This record gives sequence, structure tokens and C-alpha cells, in this order.
Amino acid sequence: MALDIVIEILLDREIAKNRIMGRRLCVNDNNHPNNIYIDAIKPDGDTCRVCGGDLKTRDDDQDGGAINKRHAIYYDATEGTLASAYYFKDLAGKGIKYITLDGAPSVKEVTDELISKLT
Ligand SMILES: [Zn+2]
Repeated sequence: MALDIVIEILLDREIAKNRIMGRRLCVNDNNHPNNIYIDAIKPDGDTCRVCGGDLKTRDDDQDGGAINKRHAIYYDATEGTLASAYYFKDLAGKGIKYITLDGAPSVKEVTDELISKLT
């Protein structure tokens, strides 16, 4: 696969788990993002911050064991997702630009950092 740019967003495993477990789905519209752990999209109490509709959770978002298994695959730097990212990281400067971002700040801050590193 020929790639020009690889973007790695670094995020502490516990923060990533909280963001998954904090997702809330609006019963009126799946495009209304709500997350109890992200200030920018925090629900209005128990209701959707966009339309006021009821919120629900996805069963797999609330399964800490399943999330840990998925993260174990992702964070495995030998055979997992990170291993493939690091394959490209080793090629940085040889036709591939490898960008590393801190994923902990807000979406806007991460987006701004990405744009600054792309230009
Ligand atoms: Zn809604």
C-alpha cells in the first residue's frame, strides 16, 4: 500500500476506555454526539445536548472486558495495530510523512494541531 502520510493519535489507554464507555446515543438521531467524559459534547443531564431526546448506551461500549481486549490488540506494538503504525514510522522521511498527535485535548485542539502539522 502506498501512503503519503500516516497519522498516529496518541491517547492514554484509560482515557480511550472512558471515551468509549462515556458515549451516549440519542434515540432520535445517531448523528447527535453525546459523551459524558467529553466537555464539548457532554449531554444535558440525561438527555441529548442537541435535541433533548432520550439517550441510551451500546452494550459493547459498556463491556470493560471487551474494550480491554480490543485495546490489547491495538496497543500491541509487536503484532497489533501499533506494529503496523510503527512499520510506517520506520519509513518516515523515505517518502512517508509520519505525524504524531496528542489525542487528549479537545477535538478542536487536536484538529488544529493536525492542520498545523500538515502544512
Ligand atoms: Zn438528539
